Amino acid sequence: MLQVLRLVSWLAPVAVGAALIVLGTQLGTFQAAGRELLLSNGLSALAGASLTALLASAVVFHRYASLTRTLEGSIEAQEAKPMPEKGMPVERRLARAFNAAALAFAQVEIRANRDRLTGVANREALLSELAAEVARANRYRQPLSVAFVDIDRFKAINDTHGHNSGDAVLRQVADLVGHHVRSTDFIGRYGGEEFMLILPGTEPEEAAEVAEKLRAIVMQTPLTIADGKTLRATISIGVAGETGGKLRLERLVADADAAMYAAKSLGRNQTYIFRSVNEEARVRRAPVDRRRREEAAELGRWASARTAEALASVLEPEAHHRGRPSDMIAALATEMAAEMGLPEVEIERIRFASLLHDVGKVAVPQDILDKPGALTEFEWQAVTEHPRIGQLVLEQATSLREAVPIVLHHHERYNGTGYPHGLKGRDIPLGARIVAVADAYHAMVHERPYQSIRTHEAALAELQRCAASQFDPDVVALFCRMYRDAVPPDGSEAVAGIIAESRKPAPRSREQRSASPRPFESPREAAG
Ligand code: GH3
Ligand code: MG
Ligand code: MG
Repeated sequence: MLQVLRLVSWLAPVAVGAALIVLGTQLGTFQAAGRELLLSNGLSALAGASLTALLASAVVFHRYASLTRTLEGSIEAQEAKPMPEKGMPVERRLARAFNAAALAFAQVEIRANRDRLTGVANREALLSELAAEVARANRYRQPLSVAFVDIDRFKAINDTHGHNSGDAVLRQVADLVGHHVRSTDFIGRYGGEEFMLILPGTEPEEAAEVAEKLRAIVMQTPLTIADGKTLRATISIGVAGETGGKLRLERLVADADAAMYAAKSLGRNQTYIFRSVNEEARVRRAPVDRRRREEAAELGRWASARTAEALASVLEPEAHHRGRPSDMIAALATEMAAEMGLPEVEIERIRFASLLHDVGKVAVPQDILDKPGALTEFEWQAVTEHPRIGQLVLEQATSLREAVPIVLHHHERYNGTGYPHGLKGRDIPLGARIVAVADAYHAMVHERPYQSIRTHEAALAELQRCAASQFDPDVVALFCRMYRDAVPPDGSEAVAGIIAESRKPAPRSREQRSASPRPFESPREAAG
């Protein structure tokens, strides 16, 4: 239709010109012959129609152009600019429809980029922002820092107060962090209880100052959980960053992640800046494939399951009311957990807990547990202690976790050039500094495929040579003092002892314990 209007409008100059010529001749001769009258009328009509078409198409194309400009402007600015609601009714309608569609799109976009629980940017939006910032920092050679913020012991908050309270804590921490970062910084939820901050134009030291401020704010603010109760949470923050040029997104993220782990293993509730020792010293994760990593994790889960079974076997000979593990309770609890759609690890945790929930009864006197009548106040108090004793037992059993920082950092070097985190000096956990010296001595006095054997004296000299660069000098000095003349024999007695212990039936049934003078001696002590 518009095309026709346009075509007709092109005739306007011709028609107007022709009509003027004919009209001019008619006026000149004063003759009004029928044929000419017809011609002039026809031409006038054509001129009128084509002029109208010209006018109409000019108006329509002007409006199209302004509509198009508004749309193009919106696309360029990546946000919908409102279209003025003016002109003819149909134009106002069109503008209203456009504005409503733009609003709906904007909301869809916001929803697609936001994390639903906390309202901050989600992982995709976060990573796309980071990619843009990395490119910008590289282009203009500006500094860029990234910080990982992880809530400490968050699982315990979930476990103690329930997931709704955990969610509330997550929301409030996101709010606190989000409201206290600088306007140029960007926050998003990287996953679980972990947030990422992008700090453009910021050196890592300055980013760490921002992080410290946030940490103090979170620590000092009471967070509201279910039933109006409050609790306080702390965060650990890992910072990494450098000046643009050769920045890579994956490395920045991996470095900030490693720094966050360091903050955790140094005791949590602190900020740690990633120290890039040198390119070679960076740990690359590539050579361990996924399957082997999963097998290793499986080994840990297997050990954890054996621990739970060992504890359950202690309760096995007891009567039900004294805490004997019940298959029925375990089945009911795990089936409910599965029905709720909980993750596999959580179901497994609930299974262990259901078997061991009464393990604390081992410490409650037998006659109180067996008493048929009402309990005295004093006796009742003894019974109510059993959950706390249960906690005590399980905390001892899971103490393997406490070995994590030592295992993780036993290849750090005192001067900060070790791996995996490049920790330096006393930042390296003491246990790891001790194990490093013992491990190195052992390696030196044994034949290894990659180095020849050394004498005791040569090994001590080597330890001293590397004191302060590779090893903690105090630990080396202590070692040399203690073992100047002799070291323990390199049999496998200690290892064999541990294996033998683990194969023994648990010596902890009530009868055995009552025969023993010290009811809480450890199996190792009992073995003498
Ligand atoms: P750490 O101090 O080492 O960080 O200990 P942690 O307990 O905080 O860390 P861990 O990674 O063991 O546990 C994180 C927990 O966060 C486990 C997971 O169930 C919980 N979690 C992840 N996402 C959510 C969520 O959206 N809501 C709630 N309530 N919990 C979540
Ligand atoms: Mg955490
Ligand atoms: Mg975490």
